[in-house]
Amino acid sequence: MPSVESIKRDIQTLGTAGQEEILNYLEEVIILGSFATEVTNEIKENRFSRGKVCPHCGHDEVSRNGKYKGNQRYICKSCLKTFTDFTRSPHHNSKKDIKKWILYAKCMINGYSIRKCAKIVDISIPTSFYWRHKILDAIRAYMGIGNVGGVIEIDEAFLRESFKGDHKKSITFTMPRKAHKTGVKGSRNGKTEKLKRGISKEQICVLCAIDRAGNIITELICKGRMKHIDLERLFRDRIDDESILCTDSHKSYIQFAQNSGVELQQIKRGKHKEGIYHIQHINAFHSKLKKWMDRFNGVATKYLTNYMYWFKWLEIFNTEKDTIKSKNLLVQSHTSHSDTKLKDFKIREAIYI
Ligand SMILES: [Zn+2]
Repeated sequence: MPSVESIKRDIQTLGTAGQEEILNYLEEVIILGSFATEVTNEIKENRFSRGKVCPHCGHDEVSRNGKYKGNQRYICKSCLKTFTDFTRSPHHNSKKDIKKWILYAKCMINGYSIRKCAKIVDISIPTSFYWRHKILDAIRAYMGIGNVGGVIEIDEAFLRESFKGDHKKSITFTMPRKAHKTGVKGSRNGKTEKLKRGISKEQICVLCAIDRAGNIITELICKGRMKHIDLERLFRDRIDDESILCTDSHKSYIQFAQNSGVELQQIKRGKHKEGIYHIQHINAFHSKLKKWMDRFNGVATKYLTNYMYWFKWLEIFNTEKDTIKSKNLLVQSHTSHSDTKLKDFKIREAIYI
């Protein structure tokens, strides 16, 4: 058996790429290995924080029903269906070890592409894609749209509509408009754009709101230019009383503020501050979002909401250490119930509020 000293010497002879591979490997072995039990236990605790409840019907009278592949199985006395601790969660029915899922969550914290995640975790590209959206569907269910209050900064971002992935293998799908040539001035499909003028129906309007306590709302609200009714639909019962909205000079905000009885502070174009009222946080949020989204080279509109929740999650937990984030992302994605199925990806549609 080689000595630790000789392994260290060998590592020194490796190039940077090789050393990084060793580092990742060690992290996988040590940190993720010890995390597996912790993650499994935390998932159980969170899922059943109010006692064992049937994930199919919500009934709380359940009993043990033997083991299946080493996992405790339960039976519901009401609907008579069986379940395990993972039923209706991303890891349910997965043939891969939970350690691979933890590693996958770590790749997601780093914002890696589907291909890069697949390589690091040693899974196929379709599996990598499937896991990403299983986790994000569940995170979306776990976080929900949310609430904001106090001083709230609101602004909209525009992303070009994208049918990426829809037409390649489909014989039934036809593009509803002419495909944009790549390299056309402006942006590639799905990339973020900040266009106030010349907003067309091909632009997806994503509305973002941030309050000073760090709460975030970010949802797709419409195609093209937004109206005050879009704002009312999104913010109904989601803005605390006595709040103050800080926005740019878009006139939909005026109508919205009047109808909902909240105070409005509009920051004039070219001006940055009106005392304590400004839109600097939301502007910073949008430039960070743009930079983060650019790495994905365009996201299909039907998956855009999931990416918004991914970014929102990263922003909310950005002060945690990466390893803790990986654990929390996985635990939280297993806390709510989600039923993402492979066959549903074909019929998936964009999620507007
Ligand atoms: Zn039941």
